[in-house]
Amino acid sequence: MDHFLYRDGALYAEDVAISEIAAAVGTPFYVYSTATLLRHFRLFDEALAGMEHLVCFAMKANSNQAVLRTLAQAGAGMDVVSGGEYRRARAAGVPGDRIVFSGVGKTRDEIELALKGGIRQFNVESEPEMVVLDAVARSLGVTAPITIRVNPDVDAKTHAKIATGKSENKFGIPIARAREVYRMAAGLKGLEVIGIDVHIGSQLTDLAPFEAAYLKVAELTETLRADGHQITRLDLGGGLGIPYERSNADPPLPSDYGMLVQRTLGHLGCEIEIEPGRLIAGNAGLMVSEVIYVKSGEGRDFLILDGAMNDLIRPAMYDAYHDIIPVVEPVAGVEPQPIDIVGPVCESGDTFAKQRLMPPLVAGDLVAFRSAGAYGAVMSSEYNSRPLIPEVLVKDDQFAVIRPRPTFDEMINRDTIPPWL
Ligand SMILES: *Cc1c(COP(=O)(O)O)cnc(C)c1O
Repeated sequence: MDHFLYRDGALYAEDVAISEIAAAVGTPFYVYSTATLLRHFRLFDEALAGMEHLVCFAMKANSNQAVLRTLAQAGAGMDVVSGGEYRRARAAGVPGDRIVFSGVGKTRDEIELALKGGIRQFNVESEPEMVVLDAVARSLGVTAPITIRVNPDVDAKTHAKIATGKSENKFGIPIARAREVYRMAAGLKGLEVIGIDVHIGSQLTDLAPFEAAYLKVAELTETLRADGHQITRLDLGGGLGIPYERSNADPPLPSDYGMLVQRTLGHLGCEIEIEPGRLIAGNAGLMVSEVIYVKSGEGRDFLILDGAMNDLIRPAMYDAYHDIIPVVEPVAGVEPQPIDIVGPVCESGDTFAKQRLMPPLVAGDLVAFRSAGAYGAVMSSEYNSRPLIPEVLVKDDQFAVIRPRPTFDEMINRDTIPPWL
């Protein structure tokens, strides 16, 4: 459920008309709904209410300062995957003890930054990383709290680019080697082993792979405890999918997921962390774009938008589906027609949808891409020298620009000319 609904024939974000935002900031732009962000965060928080827990927003999905602060003020922690994200989380007011640090390639600088600034835990992904973390922690005279990310070798049944829990993926250590790696970690004085971490992939639309992974984590917890390790925290990753295509069967709800966690891991008495990104931010955002031209081709027509793959890369990168709806509600009785929806970038990959059924649209009309709040703005670029598009946050009847569109001069002047030119 989200807060983007038609009212008297016009699309609204909460109590603000999308057309009003478009008039104020120009197109294309991203717009996020505070109520939807908070609703999704609270669904997870409530789903784990029976257990000691922390919901850490995976901020790689959407790292805008205003989005982070909205969630942090509601009690969210953050899952960061780089020093840049760590800095963003702190700048948004998230205390260090609510930040977990994930990622396969943490550098010494990033580790030092987090150890000095405060960190809840590092999710360690390899033995070489463990050795470096230990050395950096000892050089600073502190101990680093860690979980070790295990790769449970389960098939998440999602797009290959976002599956992370099979043995061929680069993430974590093979679960079969976990005992050996935990023994090694226990011998490193700069580390304090506190738990286990697992994250099997993104956009999972079925609970079965989670169940398979969490049962393995439960078993591993008992084994490691028997080996003498203190396992008090389980980080279960993110990955719960969202319904990009409204006509499709709905993916599982956070409440179902919470019951699964309770059933598979509740008896262990561990503190639970989860790291949802997409399910918190995805349906909390739209990308709004204007029709520039309607072009008739041979056998097919094209809706050419001012938004492009550089602004929203998911269709080009993951063959992702986004619902695309007109900002003026189509009148009843008008037959939708199939049309290709494309951006102006000079690549055939700059195609948002092929033969999508749309009501008749003309140049100047606005359309909204649904479910664009996660992995949208964060993955955008200035390819084709198209300035990054603005982000807007709505709360009730208010809206604010939370990242302005750079001017062309700002974009160009980031380059510098060497002295010999
Ligand atoms: C990407 C990622 C997440 C978030 O995944 P979603 O599908 O957006 O919920 C959580 N944890 C880790 C380690 C990740 O890499």
